[in-house]
Amino acid sequence: MNARTRQSNVTAAQWSPNGDALGAPDLTVSANQVYGANVFSLAVQRQRLPKHTYRQLQATLSRGEALDLTLADAVAQAMKEWAMERGATHYTHWFQPLTGMTAEKHDSFYGPDDDGAALAEFSGKELIQGEPDASSFPTGGIRATFEARGYTAWDPTSPAFLLENPNGTLLCIPTAFVSWTGEALDTKIPLLRSMDALSRAAVRALRLLGDERSERVFTTVGPEQEYFLIDEQYFYERPDLVTTGRTLFGAKPPKGHELDEHYFGSIPERILAYMLEAELELAKLGVPIKTRHNEVAPNQYEIAPVFENSNVGSDHQHLVMQVLQSVARRYGLVCLLHEKPFAGVNGSGKHNNWSMGTDTGVNLLDPGDTPRENIQFLFFCAAVIQAVNRHQALLRASIASAGQDHRLGANEAPPAIMSIFLGAELQKAFAALESGEGDGRTEASSLGLGTPVLPSMPMHGGDRNRTSPFAFTGNKFEFRALGSSASLGFPNTVLNTIAAQAIDDLADRLESELSGSDLGGAVSAVVKQAWRENCRVVFEGDNYSEAWHGEAQQRGLENLRSTPDALPWLVKRETVELFEKYKVLSERELESRYEVATEQYAVNINIEAETAASIAQTMILPAAVRYLVLLRASGVEALITESGDLVTELVASIGVLVAANDHPDTEGMHHARYMRDEVIPAMDAVRAVADRLERVVADDLWPLPKYQEMLFIK
Ligand code: ADP
Ligand code: MG
Repeated sequence: MNARTRQSNVTAAQWSPNGDALGAPDLTVSANQVYGANVFSLAVQRQRLPKHTYRQLQATLSRGEALDLTLADAVAQAMKEWAMERGATHYTHWFQPLTGMTAEKHDSFYGPDDDGAALAEFSGKELIQGEPDASSFPTGGIRATFEARGYTAWDPTSPAFLLENPNGTLLCIPTAFVSWTGEALDTKIPLLRSMDALSRAAVRALRLLGDERSERVFTTVGPEQEYFLIDEQYFYERPDLVTTGRTLFGAKPPKGHELDEHYFGSIPERILAYMLEAELELAKLGVPIKTRHNEVAPNQYEIAPVFENSNVGSDHQHLVMQVLQSVARRYGLVCLLHEKPFAGVNGSGKHNNWSMGTDTGVNLLDPGDTPRENIQFLFFCAAVIQAVNRHQALLRASIASAGQDHRLGANEAPPAIMSIFLGAELQKAFAALESGEGDGRTEASSLGLGTPVLPSMPMHGGDRNRTSPFAFTGNKFEFRALGSSASLGFPNTVLNTIAAQAIDDLADRLESELSGSDLGGAVSAVVKQAWRENCRVVFEGDNYSEAWHGEAQQRGLENLRSTPDALPWLVKRETVELFEKYKVLSERELESRYEVATEQYAVNINIEAETAASIAQTMILPAAVRYLVLLRASGVEALITESGDLVTELVASIGVLVAANDHPDTEGMHHARYMRDEVIPAMDAVRAVADRLERVVADDLWPLPKYQEMLFIK
């Protein structure tokens, strides 16, 4: 009998620190500072472009105007020279189609010249516009396949960068992706449009609030990315991980995270070596990584950058996911970004820290320490509360996916019910405003109002609440319900757009209040009303408790447990009106997103279900039968009966799953619901029996690496 476990686990635990390529650079030597080395940054542009061109480019960008071709030619020339000096041979328009991932098609800088030699060329036209065949990207019916044309358009607000490969370097130019008819086929265009919408609304409100200087408001994002690392040996022995990114089978190990020893624990040497290299690669790309730590589940980790404006932050987040995965392989590891790679231990999310800041450097969600900042803060904070209350279901829909259903609807952080945690101090402030009575902290006199009260706001106004899906954390809101594999684009588009609407709405009210009272009085009247209308969405308690489900229902909050429950909100009348009003997405563009997300859900479940049937049939059942043969030979009746019954159950449940997989030819939401109601339960039933078999079948016969191995061998 082979010693399956021992031998392979010892091999899996081997690693080497990636040759001596890395080492620890002496960061006091300036040549060793790699931060941004592979970015065509502002500094590089200033240095490389003729002064006049540089100024013209910046002016064009700040006015949001189209680039003329002469200017584009000059930029392209400088970009090409810079990239080729660093070993680039190819360039690509790097974009984010509705697959949720990034896409690239490489073109060589070199073309043959008349003498049969190769000539390096890269024109302004090639920089600003590409024309990939778009017919194979999901479009949700926006285009028929015969209208294959799509365009990529340079986004000069997100810097170009170089991706290195041992055999050559690639210049990546961030681009937007549109159809021949001008519709957005990606996540970048709506994100940029939503940032504009929010900026317009916020600048208008700032004027009313007495700010004459700010010209532009940016939304900011700082994502905390959770992920698992497992040895690649286990990964390649598990067809479910390879095909679906999660384990479709696996009994709960004797030890999970009950001991709470992993979270913030000391980072194992191999993992730390990996993190250091991943962070080095990200530093070269100008991604400002700041934080790393062990997460709650065994072999689960987290990485977080310093926040950036939403567009650049979102592009960088894609790079984080890409680099985490590619560098892992150099350490014999595989990085799992799926929301729920392992049943029974915590899944992975992505906390989306979000705020709004002016071009004069003010964070609008910072309570500040003077009453004037305080008024402004209360106004914008009230707007966010209103936005989340009015559009909780849409927010929920913006983060829905098959992977997410394992977390949101399933008693794991965070819940499917969207609510806001403010913290005791802030809640008290709003309550005091509402009742018209200040507490000890009130500084009404310093506002010279005479009437309403505006309480002061300490930075850390209360404890944290880990169970809340949308929590105020000192000077920003943390939208915690994103999935670990998600692109930031769409959830932030929704957040910006609903916030723009609420800010406008509050600004309308402020305008009319201002005719009858001074600024302080007018703001507090507006904030008071917004609070009264929207405070049902504020919840300070335990979001996992059964009691909250009942209470949320009484408050009229939606509890959209599954993806098919949530997605229809993408195309509800009020969503369409909102997105059309702010010119973020047209009805057709929303419908296409709805269709793509619905289909992705169904297709993903289908792939899982077919994989599960195949593993059960061709790996688990044969192992169980072999074991049964052994038992029969041994003649121990009790064991024969137990395993025999399980095998019979397994065969029956596989039969049900195979039948469910052979589904009727339905489409769209019908198909998605069929997957949820018929296919998932059939898959779960097979898994339940298989996991029981895993506990009895002889270990050396079991065909799949176990949780115990994948989660604990480092
Ligand atoms: P925690 O684990 O306590 O939530 P972290 O330090 O891991 O905190 O992450 C906090 C994240 O919030 C960081 O990415 C940080 O840059 C980001 N952040 C801080 N201020 C802002 C802001 N104004 N807008 C957006 N994100 C912010
Ligand atoms: Mg956090």
